[in-house]
Amino acid sequence: MDGVLVIGGGVLGFCTALALQDRGLTVTLLDDVAAVKPASWGNAGHIAVEQVEPLASPATLRAVPGRLLAKDDALSLPLRDIRHWLPFGLRLALASRPGRFQAGRAALTGLMAGAMPAWDGLVAGLSRPDLLIRDGHYVIWDTPDSAARGLARVKSGDHGSARFRPLAPEEGAALSRLLGRAPAGAVRFLGSGHIAGHDLLFDALRGRFLGRGGVLLAGRAVKLAPLGGRVRATLAGGADLTPDLLVVAAGVASKGLMEGLGHRVPMIAERGYHLHTHAGDWPAHLPPLVFEDRSLIVTRFRDDLRASSFVEFSHPDSPPDPAKWERLRRRIRALGLPFALPGAEWVGCRPTLPDYLPAIGRSARAPGLLYAFGHQHLGLTLGPVTAQIVADMAVGQERGPAPFDLSRFG
Ligand SMILES: Cc1cc2nc3c(=O)[nH]c(=O)nc-3n(C[C@H](O)[C@H](O)[C@H](O)COP(=O)(O)OP(=O)(O)OC[C@H]3O[C@@H](n4cnc5c(N)ncnc54)[C@H](O)[C@@H]3O)c2cc1C
Repeated sequence: MDGVLVIGGGVLGFCTALALQDRGLTVTLLDDVAAVKPASWGNAGHIAVEQVEPLASPATLRAVPGRLLAKDDALSLPLRDIRHWLPFGLRLALASRPGRFQAGRAALTGLMAGAMPAWDGLVAGLSRPDLLIRDGHYVIWDTPDSAARGLARVKSGDHGSARFRPLAPEEGAALSRLLGRAPAGAVRFLGSGHIAGHDLLFDALRGRFLGRGGVLLAGRAVKLAPLGGRVRATLAGGADLTPDLLVVAAGVASKGLMEGLGHRVPMIAERGYHLHTHAGDWPAHLPPLVFEDRSLIVTRFRDDLRASSFVEFSHPDSPPDPAKWERLRRRIRALGLPFALPGAEWVGCRPTLPDYLPAIGRSARAPGLLYAFGHQHLGLTLGPVTAQIVADMAVGQERGPAPFDLSRFG
């Protein structure tokens, strides 16, 4: 098979496929379309350039016991999945030591610096600037106490290229109208953004890819094997594909594919839940609202509205926990939001490595294999910039950035 085979039709897969086409390469994209809608479709749509501090941090470790004890908290460690999250948690604790955290922060800050420019480039290349709304977001607190603590955290935090300021009077008034009362505290972030909608984005990505001669293949890769300098992908059903170059961008499923080649990939399915509904009376131009005390983000897209929450350390095949959708509804009701319930339910997996850095690089076991996965809470934000790095590697650059190389796991 000539050209490049990209495995995975999420945001990482599609952005990479387009970046490879930009470099003049012939690209086939293989996607397991039978699978449920992936995280790339189910996320909150936030281009979160302010999140430059890896979640594997001393602050996270300090917060975990309190969060687990708190009633109705957004973090869960289901007992049935202990064999998945216990080893992951130990690695996370090691990655949270101050030295590793500082190194991770430097690496993520560097990557994040390119995130918004890469998004600008992506939507310009699609001739669809309307797909990216660069209008920041709000962070809102429920009580004076949490507002004081939250504001102190925001003031002392590192927000990369984003910045924050107090609300302008008209912004405070708009929030008060929405909530039916003035929030106890809120700030406006600028420099971040959100997308106009997931279907809109993926229709545009797919259209551009096909329009430039890309080939979409429906199917599931079940095994990878080195073959000379190349890698052979075996699909469910038995067919083999042996491209000049292969890119693994299959979200949480990348673990199984890469471990089959002998790589160590201590990735977990960090699941999140959302409710999705029509836009109703939600103001059209209101940026995403982060209700920090309730670990809830509500995003108004062009045509619809989504409330997302929860961090559940689990396994992709574990059954969903329906109580979480109910809790989301309780939070929405408690806040008095004009969000039409019950809303459509979704659960999906953030592909998360224990140091909360992505895996971007070239396989040390098979030079014909590149990889781009493990983007945890930030895959939408980092999709286009990651794609540029992978495309550079595809046309010559030997290795990717050292902090993101899989060899860090041994
Ligand atoms: C609730 C929630 C909210 C989030 N909010 C945000 C946010 O606001 N901003 C942000 O930046 N990030 C956010 N994220 C994270 C982001 O969604 C993910 O990091 C990102 O979607 C990962 O993209 P991906 O392409 O790597 O994987 P996925 O989206 O999982 O896509 C993987 C693709 O590979 C395909 N595939 C899998 N296995 C195979 C196989 N064997 N053969 C062929 N194809 C295969 C799948 O069908 C799928 O299409 C959120 C995540 C969740 C769960």
